Amino acid sequence: MNEGKIKKILKKYEDRRDESEIRLIEHKKEINAKFPEIMNLNDDISKIGLRLAKIVLEKPEDRDAIVFKCREDIEKLTAKREDLFLENNIPLDYLELKHRCPICKDKAFLPNGEKCTCFKQELINEAYNMSNLGNVLDRENFFTFNLNLFSNEKIESKGVSPREHMISIYQPASNFVENFGKEQSKNLFFYGSTGLGKTFMCNCIAKDLLDKGFVVIYQTAFMILQILEDYKFGKNPDQALSDENYRNLFDCDLLIIDDLGTEMNNSFTNSEIFNIVNTRLSADKSCVVSSNLNPFQIGEIYSQRVLSRILDKFEIYEFIGNDLRWERFK
Ligand SMILES: [Zn+2]
Repeated sequence: MNEGKIKKILKKYEDRRDESEIRLIEHKKEINAKFPEIMNLNDDISKIGLRLAKIVLEKPEDRDAIVFKCREDIEKLTAKREDLFLENNIPLDYLELKHRCPICKDKAFLPNGEKCTCFKQELINEAYNMSNLGNVLDRENFFTFNLNLFSNEKIESKGVSPREHMISIYQPASNFVENFGKEQSKNLFFYGSTGLGKTFMCNCIAKDLLDKGFVVIYQTAFMILQILEDYKFGKNPDQALSDENYRNLFDCDLLIIDDLGTEMNNSFTNSEIFNIVNTRLSADKSCVVSSNLNPFQIGEIYSQRVLSRILDKFEIYEFIGNDLRWERFK
């Protein structure tokens, strides 16, 4: 990725660290003004630490006894401070530095010099034009998921209502997120007409896993094909970026392919997209695929081998009902 973009991202990290510091200073000021007794306790606690260091230097022979006594004092004062926090409804970590990423403390890198997953994700967001994803995911996630949008009217041919049916998809989708990375990888295949909630469900999954610190690539099949073509045919002048984008499709923790089957239909694209899916499956890495086509139609466009792979390796869910985008206006 070009240096300017990386600098811009690192500047964002710097701003985040500054914001945390400023927030902490404001919290301290506020507590100082409203609850001076809490700040006094804070002072007392830090003074004990200083006193401890001094006494130990003066009387090294009594070290253990002194340390024990000081620890007791600190515990007492800390408990008293906690009581004051609770009595006044102040969050217990109100006077601590809070970071958006607790792993790297918003430094982007780990102590061993490796990139933190949050930084890897930022780079991916930038490279895959996913920078706006955050805004969408704030609106569309498991928390805002509204089952009432789905009709209670039974669809005769299916024997269930869209709402009942959606519950039967919601449950495994939230299990997928819950168990992600803890057990053998699973793959989900969502199909059905446009506007039935497939993309919303993909968003829910992406949001939760991003929040948990996994690296997620969420892209339409069409965009993934562009990345593949850039890589294979050297279309992108920035070859290093193009290589990295390509590699990330295999390396990321979760690849979400939206709208599979609507891309141009040529043999290069057909084989390449499934090359990625297949390699990921063999490496025990998860995929979530959404499509307007059912697995059998996908099999007809791609190949029978692809069909059997989907049937074998994916949990398959059909989305049914009426187009939700219109339902909202009724
Ligand atoms: Zn981080």
